Amino acid sequence: MGIYAERPWLALYAEGQPADISPEHATMLEVFEASLAATPDAVAIRYFDGVLTFADLDAASDALAAGLAEAGFAPGDRMGLYVQNDPAFVIGLLGAWKAGGAAVAINPMNKARELTYLLTDSGATALLCLEDLYASVARGVLPETQVRTVVTCSPLDRQARDDPRVLGDVVRARPEETLDLEELLTTHAGKEPTAPAPGGEDVAILTYTSGTTGVPKGAMNTHANMVFNAEAYREWMRLTPADSVLGVAPLFHITGLVGHIAVALLAGCPLVLAHRFHPEVVMDAIREHRPTFTVGSITVFIALSGVEGVTAADFASLRTIYSGGAPIAPAVTDQFEARTGRYIHNIYGLTETNSPSHAVPMGRRAPVDPNSGALSVGVPIYNTVVRILGEDGEELPPGEIGEIATSGPQVVPGYWGKPEATAESLPGGELRTGDVGFMDEQGWFYLVDRKKDMINAAGYKVWPREVEDVLYGHPAVREAAVVGVPDPYRGETVKAFVSLKAGAAATPEELIAFAKDRMAAYKYPRSVELVDELPKTTTGKILRRELRDQSAPATPTG
Ligand code: AMP
Repeated sequence: MGIYAERPWLALYAEGQPADISPEHATMLEVFEASLAATPDAVAIRYFDGVLTFADLDAASDALAAGLAEAGFAPGDRMGLYVQNDPAFVIGLLGAWKAGGAAVAINPMNKARELTYLLTDSGATALLCLEDLYASVARGVLPETQVRTVVTCSPLDRQARDDPRVLGDVVRARPEETLDLEELLTTHAGKEPTAPAPGGEDVAILTYTSGTTGVPKGAMNTHANMVFNAEAYREWMRLTPADSVLGVAPLFHITGLVGHIAVALLAGCPLVLAHRFHPEVVMDAIREHRPTFTVGSITVFIALSGVEGVTAADFASLRTIYSGGAPIAPAVTDQFEARTGRYIHNIYGLTETNSPSHAVPMGRRAPVDPNSGALSVGVPIYNTVVRILGEDGEELPPGEIGEIATSGPQVVPGYWGKPEATAESLPGGELRTGDVGFMDEQGWFYLVDRKKDMINAAGYKVWPREVEDVLYGHPAVREAAVVGVPDPYRGETVKAFVSLKAGAAATPEELIAFAKDRMAAYKYPRSVELVDELPKTTTGKILRRELRDQSAPATPTG
């Protein structure tokens, strides 16, 4: 038996922590219904000027499901959720499940090209969309997709509508040709959904990721995947109905879906939402609602601790903080702890592992690797086996660096409609993560590099190919190569090296503006360097690594 199959890390678990768990429920709807039955009047979602109880969420999602069914949404169909961190997102998710379908999580920063791709690839027939995103992006692209039913909404979080820090000058106008969410909740109040309940192996939500190759693919998160990781969070972080989850990760990302929504529904505790992440607004929410647990990216925590006037007392209620999605410099957690009195636990996973595969056990502190200075990402969670593999797929001993390969109940069965990518990334159901790292003798895991060229800008993953493809659309561009460069705030940011066609002219500013118009804000290059030639291998492959090594840290512009 291999060393990894023996799970040496179990000795690092907290006292009394079991090696394995077996979830009580088969689906996320069962999870929700159990909390609903136990405490119908408990608060499920707390937002700025209101709350939704479990009973409210039930009534709203019943009405939405009935409305969707009436509009032709059938069991097995998919509905896109193109909404910020608003209660409407959770109603949409439950509504899609109750109508017998699955949801497709869409980043609200996505622009027309990206939205069209996600809707077309997933074959979504319905879309829940904020009014402003409908007017500015969706309306124009929907005719190119299979979407037949569009439900639009204003933020249910009314303060968000009025707080200029949150929505600014966003235009809100109710479109005439779509169904209105609030109206639908009234006209369909009291109607029960009639679709058959989903099963554990059914897809609950498609979350898009580029994985180890450059094309975005819909990871098929099943109900069983989500229930397992929700339960893992609840057990690992010891959450009860007396807790309260602060939502700082985007809900469309697997961290938000599982670490916020699924875990709060399972624990039967409130989820505190802020429509959009604004450090001061979220600090206000922390002071007012006193959440006890949160998980998000390190950038969010740096921003919160940097809000003027913040003291340790503000963080007193937040007993448990986990940070994942991007590397954490040990010095940063130390500074955060000095200011807030709270230790940030590392947590690691991918979209394909439905959020965590590893976490630092509560009450322990992640060690720092003496050679690389990297902070450990933790140990594999319950029921999970993680191996370190060499170039030929052979198991490497502790201390040796190789690819991290993960199997467990949280690993997705594959990518939507992409059997070849599934076979490549998930041979035999084991995920080849594309992350390179090692396990020490004790069982702590460390990441040292990424096999892939992915850029990690504050937890947002940017694929060089996609940015390059957009730059190639500019008439003056001959060649483009995009790399991640160190950035003090985001960890990494996007930089493009561009050579121009003979006789053509374009300034870096012009190229940045061109890309900015065509992609989500976290993706466009923050700096462009014009060069005569890009470094290449003898076979003509652009040497991204060389460009990365030679680049000076970019100055972020926004
Ligand atoms: P995503 O699919 O967006 O969740 O991105 C997954 C990738 O984020 C992983 O493959 C890692 O490269 C990176 N990542 C996630 N968690 C951590 C962490 N705690 N430390 C360093 N990198 C991380």
